[in-house]
Parts: sequence; C-alpha cells; structure tokens
Amino acid sequence: MKTIRDISTLREVLQSFRQDGETVALVPTMGGLHRGHMNLVQLASEYAERVVTSVFVNPTQFGPQEDFADYPRPFDTDRRRLSRGGVDILFAPNHEEIYPFGADDMTTVSVPGLSTILCGEYRPGHFDGVTSIVNRLFNVTAPDVAVFGQKDYQQLAIIRRMVADLHMPIKILAGPTYREKSGLALSSRNRYLTDDERKLAPELYATVCDCRDQYPGSGKALVDLEQSCIEQLVRVGFKPEYLQVREAGDLSVPDKDSRHLVVLAAARLGETRLIDNVLFEVNGS
Ligand code: AMP
Repeated sequence: MKTIRDISTLREVLQSFRQDGETVALVPTMGGLHRGHMNLVQLASEYAERVVTSVFVNPTQFGPQEDFADYPRPFDTDRRRLSRGGVDILFAPNHEEIYPFGADDMTTVSVPGLSTILCGEYRPGHFDGVTSIVNRLFNVTAPDVAVFGQKDYQQLAIIRRMVADLHMPIKILAGPTYREKSGLALSSRNRYLTDDERKLAPELYATVCDCRDQYPGSGKALVDLEQSCIEQLVRVGFKPEYLQVREAGDLSVPDKDSRHLVVLAAARLGETRLIDNVLFEVNGS
C-alpha cells in the first residue's frame, strides 16, 4: 500500500492504474477506523480493481462547539489496518492540500433542502462541509465507484443527490451498518462513551427498531409513535434530537402510498452524539 499526501502524486499513480485498464474505488473516511470502515473497503474491492481510502479529519464539517480537536487520529493503526485490508492507496492529505485558499473562503458545494432537515437542523453547515470535501475527493480521485456507509443515511442520500444533480460519472455504493452484538452501530465516536453509557447506547438502535415494528402508516398515528419513541429514549437517559420516519429515497415525510421507508434518529448520551437508522418496506394493502 502506498501512502500519498499530495494530489499530484495521487493523480500520477491513478493515471498509471487507468492506463492498465484498471477501475478505481474510493472510500472516504475520517480515520479512527473500525470493522464498519473495513467492510466498506471490502465492498469497494469487489467493484473495482484498485481501492483508494482517504483519511482526512475534515474541519469544515464540524461546528464550532463540536469535537474536531478531540476527534481520534490513530494514524499508524489506521495505516496498518488499511494495508492488511488490501487497500492500494491511503490518501492522507493535510489541510493546505485540500483547502489551498483556506477553509474560510472555500468554494462550497451545497445540496439545499436535504442538508437542512434532520441532522442538518442540529448541525448547521455540517452537510455543506461534507459535500464540499467529498466533491474535492471526487475531483482529485475521479473514482469509478465510491462507497459510503448506510450508518450515515442522510449523508448517503445527500451524496447520491449531489452526484445525480451534478452529473458526476460515479457509482455510489452503500455498505450496511456494522454493529456490535448489542446492536450498537460501530462509530469512531463510541470511544467517547463511559462504561455506563456504553451499556445504554444499544437502546438507540432498539428504539429505532421498535418504531419500525410499530409503524402505523402516515399521519397523526405516526407522529404519536415518533413521540412515544422519543419518550422511550428520554426514559433510558438519552437527550434525543429527533426520531422520525421518512421516505428512504428523498427523506420526505411519508404519506399513505409510501413503501420504502427509513427510521432515523439522533440522540445525545452524556457528551456523545449518536445517530442510527433502519430501512424497511411496507406492503400496499
Ligand atoms: P467517518 O470516518 O465516520 O466519516 O465514516 C466514513 C465512512 O464509514 C462513512 O461512509 C460512514 O457512513 C461509514 N461508516 C461509519 N460507521 C459505520 C458502520 N458502523 N458501518 C458501516 N459503515 C460505517
């Protein structure tokens, strides 16, 4: 595995792959890698001959009060993991390489609408930071395929929209959420949880699943169910931000004809913000 820090070297190496007729998959990450990330790498390798994984803790997707400074950066461990996982290129640029004119004046790519609901309501500017970095990574890598986790479902929906809207010739693949046996979705941020919080954390997924299992259709009954799930989270000790059922495709509020759905939730446990979701289908009656 090659570790590359600058864009021009990355482009040269990718060019040589392409000259040999090889396709390229990109797996963007912020490091602190776990099995969930490595499963995305595995999926990427099934769709392209060469796999690039980027590790970049992107400052523009963190709010001023968020954990950018504390975000885990176990770079050597990440590098070993990626090398063992069969990655061809670890792309680990520094801030200046990615934002040559500084992040304050950066050119922003924004997917309005989808970026301001759900998590976007509680993390203003977050998704603009995500689409702006993913765009840069797409521009410098020009991958055939890019792989994202279903764990960050809203992010996935936004990236799919961006790629479709900007006619980017990139196939977006979604990897399933990797979970502990308890049901807790793996996340780089789980390491912030205290022992006691860790025992409670699986309740987020359990509650999201309860909501799915009791889905009553659209309208007031749905609002009541969402509210009772939020109350369930509060009783366990969470500070919920939202728990909502949405259309899986465009994250709109479901109506009686909706068939492909997703329950999405975000809640704080102590200082740690956790998100989770589950997709499901309902049959027409
Ligand atoms: P991050 O490093 O948190 O920005 O995540 C990088 C990629 O890994 C994103 O596409 C995430 O959705 C994905 N990811 C994070 N956690 C998981 C998980 N538990 N299972 C599958 N994919 C994940």
